[in-house]
Amino acid sequence: MSNDLQTRAWVEVDLEALRENYRAVRGAVGDRPAIIAMVKADAYGLGADRVVRTLEPLEPWGYGVATADEGVALRDFGVRRPIVVFGPLPPTSVETAARAGLSATISNMDSLERWASAATGGRLDFHVEIDTGMGRAGFDWRDTPEWSRAVQEIAAARRVRWTGVMTHFHSADGADASASVQWERFQEALGQLPVSRADLMVHAANSAAALRWPQYAADAVRPGIFLYGGHPANHAGEPVPAPRPVAAVRARLVLVRDAPPGSTVGYGATHVAKEWERWGTLAIGYGDGLPRRLGNRGSAIVHGRIVPLVGRISMDMAVVDITGVPEARAGDVATLIGSDGDACITLDEVAEQAETISYEILTGLRPRLPRVEKGAWTERN
Ligand SMILES: *Cc1c(COP(=O)(O)O)cnc(C)c1O
Repeated sequence: MSNDLQTRAWVEVDLEALRENYRAVRGAVGDRPAIIAMVKADAYGLGADRVVRTLEPLEPWGYGVATADEGVALRDFGVRRPIVVFGPLPPTSVETAARAGLSATISNMDSLERWASAATGGRLDFHVEIDTGMGRAGFDWRDTPEWSRAVQEIAAARRVRWTGVMTHFHSADGADASASVQWERFQEALGQLPVSRADLMVHAANSAAALRWPQYAADAVRPGIFLYGGHPANHAGEPVPAPRPVAAVRARLVLVRDAPPGSTVGYGATHVAKEWERWGTLAIGYGDGLPRRLGNRGSAIVHGRIVPLVGRISMDMAVVDITGVPEARAGDVATLIGSDGDACITLDEVAEQAETISYEILTGLRPRLPRVEKGAWTERN
């Protein structure tokens, strides 16, 4: 990578912060539980290759992905640790997953049959998902005696190994008591399994659950968003440690103009200058993943000062009111997410302004924004 960043807009990834967030999860759950680092969707948009390279020295037990192709990509980067595919595999992906030696997450007998049939070489590992209320995947916790016997029979007779059992909380970030209800259902199901619990890796907790309820950490935790700087439970009604920010979104100021009173900006002319204003055009838009919702509500940081986004966000451009930043010039860097000087716009603030969640903001950042590692370049204005 060149030392000089010449691109119009980019995502800056702070790998030291990522490592610290990982260590914070380890600190919260203690030494015993394994950590399955969730790197699905290209590590929430930040680049699975660099995330894995950063986490490997910290020795996570393994990685979690959503698709067979994501698991294959990790193998291509050289990952030898277990890789669990948490999304149910479509029949067309089973062979790919098997060839890469991934672990499948099994939710019904049909998919276990397919997994066993794909085991033409050595034995293939699988985890069983138990649905305790999430409703999108998993065997029903109420029917555990039936399905668990059938699962065990296949594991005994075919070339598959039952290595794990998991569930997923639907409201680990919330203030209600549903997680304890789901945990009870999970425990009830575990008590009915025909195999010894000691032979299975038991796991349930995502980031929010791991940080709030270490008593649910079981044998492994599955952190995702916290590693990438998203607050895992902003509205939990109790203090939950904040992650260190990992992603910053920055864009060049490409035009600066003085707008006389009455000037309008953006599609729909939704912002009108009441007096003389100074407008700066930023080289970033919803085509880069900057939510269109931020028009007339969001902000940016220019020269360490927070300035409002005025008018609607276009596909490739957005405009800020820099009346209060007279030194701003074309070529300067604006920050849409992250810090500049003492000013900071957090990922979660942006998500709230855009009426969504940090996960969607991060995974929505388009490939048009190059990902650059913090410290890998020097700004030259
Ligand atoms: C994505 C995912 C996680 C991680 O959730 P976060 O809220 O990002 O920590 C954990 N478990 C499963 C099954 C997931 O799909």
